[in-house]
Amino acid sequence: MSKYLEQTIKDLRAKNADQPEFLQAAEEVLTTLDPVVEAHPEYEANAVLERLVEPERVIMFRVPWVDDTGKVRVNRAYRVQYNSAIGPYKGGIRFDPTVNLSVLKFLGFEQIFKNSLTTLPMGGAKGGSDFNPKQSPHTPGKRCSDQEVMRFCQSFMTELYRHVGPNTDVPAGDMNVGGREIGYMFGQYRKIVNEWNGVLTGKGLPFGGSLMRPEATGYGCVYFAENMLATKKQNLKGKVCAISGSGNVASFAAQKLVTLGAKVVTLSDRSGAIYVKAGLTLKDIDTIKFLKTVTRGELADVVKQIKGAKFFKGVNSWQIVDKVDCAFPCARQNELNGEDAKYLLKHGCKLVAEGANMPSTPEAVEAFVSAKILYAPGKAANAGGVATSGLEMTQNAEHISWTAKDVDDKLRQIMRSIHDNAFEAAAKYGHKGNYVMGANIAGFVKVADAMVAQGV
Ligand code: NDP
Repeated sequence: MSKYLEQTIKDLRAKNADQPEFLQAAEEVLTTLDPVVEAHPEYEANAVLERLVEPERVIMFRVPWVDDTGKVRVNRAYRVQYNSAIGPYKGGIRFDPTVNLSVLKFLGFEQIFKNSLTTLPMGGAKGGSDFNPKQSPHTPGKRCSDQEVMRFCQSFMTELYRHVGPNTDVPAGDMNVGGREIGYMFGQYRKIVNEWNGVLTGKGLPFGGSLMRPEATGYGCVYFAENMLATKKQNLKGKVCAISGSGNVASFAAQKLVTLGAKVVTLSDRSGAIYVKAGLTLKDIDTIKFLKTVTRGELADVVKQIKGAKFFKGVNSWQIVDKVDCAFPCARQNELNGEDAKYLLKHGCKLVAEGANMPSTPEAVEAFVSAKILYAPGKAANAGGVATSGLEMTQNAEHISWTAKDVDDKLRQIMRSIHDNAFEAAAKYGHKGNYVMGANIAGFVKVADAMVAQGV
């Protein structure tokens, strides 16, 4: 590794020793940039890497709200505005007790490269709060009520509104932030600024949302997998697929896979994983979607409604399959470790496409890359969501709505461009077939060149 990269990583570790997720994500990118940094001495001359790893701005704020018993609660929230060299900041909002600065810096950093890969003009950001909508603060085992979620979202936006805007920073959803939460936040924003604009994406269809946005990340991930298989003259028909998660990304990935003739044998959630040897049907997937978005329960609650389903308590989707061709981790960061990777490889896995952000640990990534299987990192494979958010911004700015087919066609085209750019960048720097290097390099070069051109 070049001295410049070594020094950057050393400084990074010293400055961020308390941020393990961020260090993992930043080192994963930096360690793949050697060939491109060597070929472009202007990056070192302009301290591009040192600037890139430091967010342009971090906002931290309190969110006070009143629960259903009348008690005042206080959560901590952040917006990490990482890099706006190529466009307004863009990235999701996550509500989860695991949210902290390290997690949001990792997600915001990843978002820079992901957004750059989409070919659309969007900078990188991420935000969220340690608020847990899945656990009421006053009744153990119960979720927050809709009213509590609304009051939390309104208070969250009462501070956030001053830092965002359609040309400044355009947040979207992420874990535990879907249509309901985006609606409440949009309503509060509009009331405060007295203006209707496309400040958030993932909005409901009656108020500026784009058709296909909910489907986009899961569908896009499957389109990426199709493009990878096409390089080997294969397709998804008949492939046995394991998916983790059962939320937005997982459920739409499952739906698209089944539609394309693949067999989806697993899904999971915090309570455990289900396994259906014969494969889930589209109706089964609808049952699970209803469970997760309407009744908001656990997978264990619906096992009896799904023919042939077995439930495995407290485990993820990986080590319960006896044969697998493709794996789609779609739940959360670091959910697939080195042991899981070895197990999957031993049981026939030839393709991994990450719907979640950084779901594979460094040991798992190493195992996939060494085995030379088709392995697509999240920043490339799950970029369809933010790309479609970009399309929602365009529709809002032009005051038009495209049809589902228009949006889906554009999504397919974008996923193909992302695939081809990553594939070609890897080949150009001597690592043909390595999508980790390809995605990092292709995403980085555009942002780095913009930073150099714009001066210090
Ligand atoms: P959702 O909240 O809709 O779903 C998350 C899923 O992961 C749920 O099934 C949840 O289970 C499961 N999960 C969460 N934490 C754990 C845990 N500790 N153990 C086991 N399972 C867990 O989120 P999304 O589908 O939107 O996001 C999933 C991933 O995809 C995240 O990494 C996100 O950053 C990434 N992503 C999302 C995009 C989007 O457009 N939504 C875009 C790009 C990336 P349970 O139902 O029990 O809570």
